[in-house]
Amino acid sequence: MTALYTNAPEYFNDICEAVRLFIDTRRIELLHTPDAPPSGFFVLHTLERQGGMMTSAVRFFSDGASVSEYSFSCAVPAGALEMKREAKRASKISVYRALLRHFKTPLPWGSLTGIRPSKLLRDSESLLGEKKAASLFLDTFDVSLQKYALAKSILESQSGLYPADGELDVYIGIPFCVTRCAYCSFASYTPDVFKDAEARYTEALLAELACAKEIIGSRRVRALYVGGGTPTALSPANLAAVLERAALIADGADEFTVEAGRPDTITEEKLRIIKAAGARRLSVNAQTMFDETLRRIGRRHTSAEFAAAFNLAASFGFDALNVDLIAGLPGETSEHIAASLAQVISLAPENITVHTLAVKRASAFAAANMEAFPTDTQTAQALETAHTMLSASGYRPYYLYRQKYMKGSLENTGYTKPGKACLYNIDNMEELCDVLAFGAGAISKRLFQGGARIERAANVKDLKGYIERHAEMADFKRRLFQ
Ligand code: SF4
Repeated sequence: MTALYTNAPEYFNDICEAVRLFIDTRRIELLHTPDAPPSGFFVLHTLERQGGMMTSAVRFFSDGASVSEYSFSCAVPAGALEMKREAKRASKISVYRALLRHFKTPLPWGSLTGIRPSKLLRDSESLLGEKKAASLFLDTFDVSLQKYALAKSILESQSGLYPADGELDVYIGIPFCVTRCAYCSFASYTPDVFKDAEARYTEALLAELACAKEIIGSRRVRALYVGGGTPTALSPANLAAVLERAALIADGADEFTVEAGRPDTITEEKLRIIKAAGARRLSVNAQTMFDETLRRIGRRHTSAEFAAAFNLAASFGFDALNVDLIAGLPGETSEHIAASLAQVISLAPENITVHTLAVKRASAFAAANMEAFPTDTQTAQALETAHTMLSASGYRPYYLYRQKYMKGSLENTGYTKPGKACLYNIDNMEELCDVLAFGAGAISKRLFQGGARIERAANVKDLKGYIERHAEMADFKRRLFQ
């Protein structure tokens, strides 16, 4: 059991995130008294303010015995929002450092638990300047020099690629996949569910999309992204209907991307439809080039089928093709990643995205008796190998994000050949412009005060609910973008 007492329960979730950096547990029990440390792990946290200072103190117990502690103090900033942000940071830092003293394994991103480290670095640089932002990352958050350099090089790659004022992105989601990957935590429906609902979903989506032009008004669409799920899981007729509507919205946009993530959904007919609609970028995902692993993770295609689908897509002359790979898959080490990458690089895609496996609650991995996963150290080694190989082959990291329950507290990194970066990925991960999103589970975002405040409108995730309530979803968006 892992338990926690805090005198600042409003930060319970933040403290739990920092605890989970070291302790692999879904459930952390909140105790209402600190008096008797229970068996198992116990974190005792207090947050006090005195004068102009705030102190977050942590004592860490294992089976009733105190094994480490740490206190972190900082000045109380002016403003309620800033105060809350500092309290969260101080709490995470003190938990991270107390637990590090016990477990003795520094983590690559230190006490940072957020999804967007490069956005944090960008914001910190514009607020504090480059030097102080570097010190914040390295000395306060305990980010490793290697990960700080990665975030820094991502900001350099993004230079000159940010949206202009008033531009926005459009996202269209298709929540269907041919099979469910064992690591999937998205709302994605397999054919047993979606075959009966596909036509009604397409109809609902087209109806929801009817409000797009009215909401966009005179603004310019910078990037349009059709994702999921797997859009190419749709029948040719439904895919054509969605993409023809998408093309009207993307008219004049810099970018029009379609995810064709599952090679086993790619056919010449569907590629012709995608090309005819004007999409210029496509994702075809390998995940690994080892067939045994593909079977193990619930993908129905082989590596040879991936290569054939990729080559077929390449023959259509898209501006950019992306391939995803995953580090940390069961039974795989850095040698596997190196071998998979070598094959993928030989196909010369413009973009390669290297993910780290995240084993989330809803994933089949959580319950399945899978072959041993690589250790966190092996997964970190696999990412390093990937970075070295990609850099040597002319790819540069250009966007980055992290997820909860990611192996080794690592990250996902998108690499690109010069001039081929996906603008939608940059905008989305750095939260640089409004997003108008359509389809089940899609989340529209509107930025206020240059992104200091973000309001969201989430569409219903459930397929039946979305089909019945798509008109309401359009209304939510109208209100958000009013
Ligand atoms: S392709 Fe993506 S959305 Fe579909 S099942 Fe796999 S992880 Fe989930």
